[in-house]
Amino acid sequence: MSQKVFFADLRSGPRENLHHKLKRLLDKAGVDTLVRKADLVAVKLHFGEKGNTAFIRPILIRDIIEKIATLGGKPFLTDTNTLYRGERGESVSHLVLALEHGFSFATVAAPVIIADGLRGNDSVRVQIEAKHFDEVSIAASIANADMLVSAAHFKGHELTGFGGTLKNLGMGCASREGKLKQHSDISPKVTAKECIACGKCMEHCPVGAITMVNEKARINQNLCIGCAQCITACSVGAVKINWNESTELFQEKMVEYAYGVFACHGRKSVYLNFLTGISPACDCYGHADSPIVPDIGILASRDPVAIDQASADLVNAQEGFINCALKTNRKKGKDKFRGIYPAVDWELQLSYAEKLGMGTRSYKIIEI
Ligand code: SF4
Ligand code: SF4
Repeated sequence: MSQKVFFADLRSGPRENLHHKLKRLLDKAGVDTLVRKADLVAVKLHFGEKGNTAFIRPILIRDIIEKIATLGGKPFLTDTNTLYRGERGESVSHLVLALEHGFSFATVAAPVIIADGLRGNDSVRVQIEAKHFDEVSIAASIANADMLVSAAHFKGHELTGFGGTLKNLGMGCASREGKLKQHSDISPKVTAKECIACGKCMEHCPVGAITMVNEKARINQNLCIGCAQCITACSVGAVKINWNESTELFQEKMVEYAYGVFACHGRKSVYLNFLTGISPACDCYGHADSPIVPDIGILASRDPVAIDQASADLVNAQEGFINCALKTNRKKGKDKFRGIYPAVDWELQLSYAEKLGMGTRSYKIIEI
């Protein structure tokens, strides 16, 4: 059976502005029936790495907060610390960055809580008994909340083709231990004969795992955390991983973590995908390249699989921009994610999530 995915385009006028439209979208998706008085509601988003500009605008996040508060809930904004060093590697810097990006109480009318604690090890074990993991390590403040609203910025991603709701749940709600377990099979290598010794991969490696040996970059596999940043940093394609094996395994592991979050909140969760500023890569980068397609709108659903499938289809239905990261597949109907990451089969995350029973790839778009 197909699941409902509600869609708000970005048109607005004197009769209804985008704030009102977004709140109406939330009601359509069932937020008004799910929030109970005094519920602690985790609104999971990504505050954007320092230097990134593609993350969801705080004034739209405020609409979600206001809606939940009006219904008697107690919303808080949340994200988890990253695996790598950087401005989101521990809670103090992470909170400062969230403020710098406009996620302050004055702007969003809610407190910000980093869900996995000061150093990323405040977690709860959730039993799932799936193919790769019997249990997963989920950030405590997300697992312990009464309800979850996932607000994902939908964009390209170098390991999963695109990043949407499943990624916001699977990687975004995992503790540091959980992130490490998901990344443990990603192990890039440098093809020496293709390396031009520009050093860009070294600059981007967050853990200092790359050194220059005889004017060729070399990765220390003992230090590497599998974040894949060196792959996108290398302009000549000298950094490679075994995509067929690695990306399939990574996507399945990520989905099993999403399944763990789903196990905590499946009946009391709403998923939003913002199809705005659709950049080619993750908001974890300290930059955001120009969008690959025009802004599309905002989707909301109770089904985490249906919403990602619908979002991918909507992106692929667009004509791609000329001046952007798309190398091929620019035309309407062509696969934009393969146009950026030809070796990544993004459908794997959807089919595996469907197999685990998280939802269905069959959807019906209902325009509000
Ligand atoms: S994947 Fe690349 S950038 Fe990331 S830790 Fe390993 S060597 Fe460094
Ligand atoms: S970015 Fe690529 S070309 Fe430059 S040093 Fe690293 S592997 Fe070599």
